Amino acid sequence: MSRIYYFDNNATTRVAPEVVQAMLPFLEEFWGNASSAYRFGKQVAKHVEEARAKVAALINADPKEVVFTSCGTESNNSAIHSALVIHPAKRHIVTTSVEHSANIKFCDYLQRRGYEITFLPVESDGSIDLHLLDQSIRPDTAIVSVMWANNETGVIFPIEEIAAICQSKGVLFHTDAVQTPGKLKIDVKATGVDYLSLSAHKLHAPKGIGMLYIRRQAKYQPYIIGGHQERGRRGGTENVPYIIGFGKAADIAMSHLNEENTRVRGLRDKLENTILKQIPNTLRNGAKEPRLPNTTNLAFDYVEAESVLMMLDQLGICASSGSACTTGSLDPSHVLTAMGISPMRARSCLRFSLGVYNTDEEVDFVLSHLPKIISKLRSISPLNPQHPDNDTYDVQRAKLKRQETIAEALAKAGDKH
Ligand SMILES: *Cc1c(COP(=O)(O)O)cnc(C)c1O
Repeated sequence: MSRIYYFDNNATTRVAPEVVQAMLPFLEEFWGNASSAYRFGKQVAKHVEEARAKVAALINADPKEVVFTSCGTESNNSAIHSALVIHPAKRHIVTTSVEHSANIKFCDYLQRRGYEITFLPVESDGSIDLHLLDQSIRPDTAIVSVMWANNETGVIFPIEEIAAICQSKGVLFHTDAVQTPGKLKIDVKATGVDYLSLSAHKLHAPKGIGMLYIRRQAKYQPYIIGGHQERGRRGGTENVPYIIGFGKAADIAMSHLNEENTRVRGLRDKLENTILKQIPNTLRNGAKEPRLPNTTNLAFDYVEAESVLMMLDQLGICASSGSACTTGSLDPSHVLTAMGISPMRARSCLRFSLGVYNTDEEVDFVLSHLPKIISKLRSISPLNPQHPDNDTYDVQRAKLKRQETIAEALAKAGDKH
């Protein structure tokens, strides 16, 4: 594969070379079982505990409050599952309509199993109404689960205030903070959340390792039941090399906070402002602030995001039309539709999520190609009101035309190379 211009850091991130280096000895040399009684195992356990302390420091937790899991999805599922097992009589959950599928799909499943779920709506800028959240909590609410920052729009929720509401009502509170490391400063002691999820592959460590923070005073029932690992809170032999990598990445993420909020934010703003200025009929989705410094989500009316992505891909540019989980399906993003964006406009939206490895030159590369791609696609788009054979905004017809449009666009793009 030739050069990659990577603008999809909310989907996953490049594994930092320092992280790879930190992991290698634990694949090649120190491969013992951290739970073994002999020194060859115990020395591994010592390194696992060092990594735990680093991950804990990232969110100002006590290392004992950190449970390693296999991913962010497991962490989210585990927190909600725990609350339901602890309070079997409480069969109501409050969450939002813009959570990651790692949360929403689990809540859908629970709903089918007879639990009652309140999916809080959001405003058109992606924010939530705290008064509504407050009112939604009932005596039979087992847990409130609200993400810290949205992966599609970057919109940040007021987690401190939500935690305070939950505390005052005596209800457990979980937050999916997967998108925050290296971008926002997290302090669980100051915030008072009960459970918090992280996933290492969103902070320059490998996929397949995550963590669940469990506040010391909070009760917890394990989701994966087996050995006594993780102080009995998560069975399964510790994934030592990945835990070590996660620890190293947590260290690095703290040192990235400043750069993400200055240089990366600057690149994101340049990309966003230039697109909004140079390409007509574009708009930003979600509040400008408070928002993650690395994320921009933009609507490009009269084009299909999937076609744009294919043409960007021809140039080696990686971006996304929403979450990795909805890409490829015809369904518009549940986050954008929850914000009141029409399904047609939602299908025209692209997300660029930057990271510390992005350069000014890469942003310029995108900016030098995107306007041409959009105008080319608009000129052949059946969605475009200026298009000669467009009589209505007919979604069905657009769908039928979609394959043709993409094929045509690709052929044209191919001609140019
Ligand atoms: C990526 C992501 C997840 C899922 O994490 P995995 O480790 O891939 O399971 C959950 N929530 C948010 C907000 C995410 O961005």
